[in-house]
Amino acid sequence: MPHDRRKVLVLGGGVAGIAAATALADHGLHVELVEKRPLLGGRASSFVDKATGERVDECQHGTMRCCTNLADLLERLGVHDRICYFDAIAFLDREGRRSAIYGSRLPAPLHTLPSFLRFRSLRLTDKIAIGRAMLAILRAKPHPEQDRIDVATWLQRMRQTERALRRFWRPILVSACNEELERISCAHAFKIFREGFLLHPQAFHFGIPSVPLATLYTEPTVAYLQARDGHVRTQTTIEQLEVEGDRVVGVLLTGGTRLQADYYVSALPFDVLLRVLPEHTTVGEPYWENLRRLEFAPLCGVHLWFDRPIGCPPALAVLDRDTEWIFNKTQNFGLPAERGGYLSVVISASRRFAGMPKEALLAHILTEVRACLPEACRAELVRWQIVRWPRATFSPRPGVEAARPDQQSPIRNLLVAGEWTRTGWPSTMESAARSGYRAAEYVLAQEGRPARLVAPDLPASGLARWFA
Ligand SMILES: Cc1cc2nc3c(=O)[nH]c(=O)nc-3n(C[C@H](O)[C@H](O)[C@H](O)COP(=O)(O)OP(=O)(O)OC[C@H]3O[C@@H](n4cnc5c(N)ncnc54)[C@H](O)[C@@H]3O)c2cc1C
Repeated sequence: MPHDRRKVLVLGGGVAGIAAATALADHGLHVELVEKRPLLGGRASSFVDKATGERVDECQHGTMRCCTNLADLLERLGVHDRICYFDAIAFLDREGRRSAIYGSRLPAPLHTLPSFLRFRSLRLTDKIAIGRAMLAILRAKPHPEQDRIDVATWLQRMRQTERALRRFWRPILVSACNEELERISCAHAFKIFREGFLLHPQAFHFGIPSVPLATLYTEPTVAYLQARDGHVRTQTTIEQLEVEGDRVVGVLLTGGTRLQADYYVSALPFDVLLRVLPEHTTVGEPYWENLRRLEFAPLCGVHLWFDRPIGCPPALAVLDRDTEWIFNKTQNFGLPAERGGYLSVVISASRRFAGMPKEALLAHILTEVRACLPEACRAELVRWQIVRWPRATFSPRPGVEAARPDQQSPIRNLLVAGEWTRTGWPSTMESAARSGYRAAEYVLAQEGRPARLVAPDLPASGLARWFA
């Protein structure tokens, strides 16, 4: 390695850290990535199941075609083909009616209209109300005003029916933003529908990993960085950033080791970053004080292993129940039938279950799953896991955009990535990847060789171009 290569320490090996580290290594910087846990991916990762030795995802993750920066990162790592994209989203209501949202030959934003008109869980009055609100969203170009109002209030103003709220707006927005409608800023809600459903005909295609999340991120990142003289340190905890004037001068690890670099990219969660920075640098400084206004929202995942495979679409959106999504991991991972059936259930904004004993929550979810999938009634549950994340995502409540910081911090050689930084996106792997790329852009700009790393959005197409 030439001595004059500039060194970057990337702190935190989640999606944001991986994006920043790989992009900077690609541009010739000497990158070291430091991560507390044994596997990479952060919240989008897996743990090793003691019973089987296999990697089990902390919680099922999905993506969409509109997530262009995540796609770019996965391409970079050579694992984009490990995401299976589906051009239909299946729904099941309490009366057992199945519907799907899928594309057609109509131009955007009308591409899903035929499937929407056939959607069996909604009546014509609901659909007319939803259509009216969709048109308003399409016309509403992004504006700071949208961050001042919650989407529940806005939907009320748009005179949405109770059924439209329960069977359309709530399932889509609560799972996309991990919050209740009353706590979702319109800026985020509009973003989901514009980018995800209205502007481009393939944007809504739903992507599901065909391997555990840790497998998607860990070995490919290590190999990518090693091939560029970079290095990954796992099971290494950052205790403190040492700041002098407007520069970070070192990072202290548990055990007393000190690391130094020219640039430091923090991709730590915001509460951890505030903890490891010296108090005198953050108190009274609006950039850091704003982080104290960010809040978390919880999410819960339930893994169910049965003695036989269970018939279920790759991803099933469940209406009218606490179970929000059921994922058929047997099918998605291509597991052999003799391994039995493996389903993964997701419950977003899961505050109401925070204090419930795990056995009671399991009984409740199992009853719901069996009501949705009759084959599960005949199958025996052989194993289960419940993973509760009290701090799963940042809460996208109104005002959140003003609190999200830019990736350039007031400390000149400290760039800040993380899905919670200012990207305009809700808490997603896409937001994390974007933030990592933006932080890397700032490093390259300071190096005097600016580069565009953030991938462009899918272009508005068809009739939607008039509204973009
Ligand atoms: C249960 C759940 C379900 C989700 N579902 C989806 C989904 O379906 N689709 C989607 O797009 N997004 C989903 N998300 C959101 C998505 O996972 C996150 O927005 C994204 O992964 C955040 O990435 P990040 O790199 O910004 O942060 P993180 O993933 O939190 O990365 C931070 C990293 O820093 C490390 N770290 C922390 N402290 C230290 C320390 N002191 N020293 C060293 N390292 C440290 C952590 O271990 C972690 O690896 C979900 C999140 C959760 C929790």
